[in-house]
Amino acid sequence: MLSAVPLIGDSLSSKLNEMRASLRALVRARAVPWLDRATAATEADLPLVEAALARLDPTLSLRTIRARVVAVRAETHDVTTFVLRPNARFTSFRAGSYVTLQLTIDGRPVQRSYSISSAPSADGLFAITVKRVAGGLVSNWLADHVRPGQVLELSAPRGQFVLPPEVPRELLMLSAGSGITPVMSMLRQLRAERRPVNVTFVHFARTPADIIFRDELAEIESELVHVRMLFCVEQAGSEWAGARGRFSLELLESVAPGFRELDTYMCGPSPFMQAVIETFESSGADLAKLRYERFSADFDATKFLAHAQLVRFLRSGSESIASRPRTILEEAESLGVAIESGCRAGNCGTCRCLKRSGVVNDVVTGRDSGAGEEFIYPCISIPRGTVEIEL
Ligand SMILES: Cc1cc2nc3c(=O)[nH]c(=O)nc-3n(C[C@H](O)[C@H](O)[C@H](O)COP(=O)(O)OP(=O)(O)OC[C@H]3O[C@@H](n4cnc5c(N)ncnc54)[C@H](O)[C@@H]3O)c2cc1C
Repeated sequence: MLSAVPLIGDSLSSKLNEMRASLRALVRARAVPWLDRATAATEADLPLVEAALARLDPTLSLRTIRARVVAVRAETHDVTTFVLRPNARFTSFRAGSYVTLQLTIDGRPVQRSYSISSAPSADGLFAITVKRVAGGLVSNWLADHVRPGQVLELSAPRGQFVLPPEVPRELLMLSAGSGITPVMSMLRQLRAERRPVNVTFVHFARTPADIIFRDELAEIESELVHVRMLFCVEQAGSEWAGARGRFSLELLESVAPGFRELDTYMCGPSPFMQAVIETFESSGADLAKLRYERFSADFDATKFLAHAQLVRFLRSGSESIASRPRTILEEAESLGVAIESGCRAGNCGTCRCLKRSGVVNDVVTGRDSGAGEEFIYPCISIPRGTVEIEL
């Protein structure tokens, strides 16, 4: 008798499995084609729906991120801040992120990226701050043509030059010219959240009149005892009591003697960034702690780095340099580049990814790879020189 119980159980469960299988087949047969038809209909109708939405309100869209300009503010003689109210397609952002504007100028589509200069805030607004570039198309067009009420199209916020969720207790921020924008966003966030982070903020400008956000920075310094500010200008009259000159090791030593071990965020024109990276490298600083944002695609640290390694993550558009050997997995993790990993020993293959160029050393076998395109395990690969990864 006892042996009959599992038999009944077995036959019941096999009947149930059969029923489940036929239900699944029925759903596949009926629902999937229905869903396909519905999606196709929506795709076909999308331009009509979009046009109807745009007639109601030009920022409305099911797909496209658009933002209405709610304020335009002159920061200096050649720098303008645009305050934007994005539509619901816009996602939240982390301080330091950038957006890419998609514009049509004289009938030509053009794209340019701009760091968000404001901190994330509950009102849903954000700002970009643009410096006119001599002969530049978009920076001048924005300053000359964009006014409150206009609607701009843009990308979702992106970038890896952001404050980490666990903000270190001490930070060094170095910026020059319009490169102040992403670090200003970070500083504004630290201020808004009242974080007790010791910040040394050094900003370089051509003249005192070129210092963007000067009044607000002075206000932050007087309000927050743990924030120290230094402005350094190239040209100034005798009334200027601050520092003068360009970035130098002497200046850095005087304002942030512990810079070699400090988490540092840096952004500015290419010559400034080169000077900072070269100084950090030649003075034995931990380059892995130096984060930077490139405003120009022409900026290439591999051209002047003496010994350091550089890993460029192509899809995420970020890169990191290191003076001590670190695996490519560690580089990706320190930048916040999304990468799955498992064993961290080259066994499970979870982190396998495509190397586009450059030589890596396999720490398990000790062998160097070729310089071309191939799949690698980032968890056991240490870059030799410059390596480009498809992540
Ligand atoms: C992630 C990121 C964030 C950024 N954030 C900011 C920011 O917050 N604020 C900011 O102001 N900028 C920022 N930038 C820079 C910005 O994207 C633009 O590069 C900048 O505004 C200049 O664009 P433009 O169209 O005015 O100049 P462009 O038209 O691109 O011209 C740039 C320079 O090239 C010269 N030039 C153009 N065409 C030619 C040619 N055919 N031959 C020779 N020379 C030529 C121009 O004279 C000019 O000097 C950021 C860039 C990136 C990548």
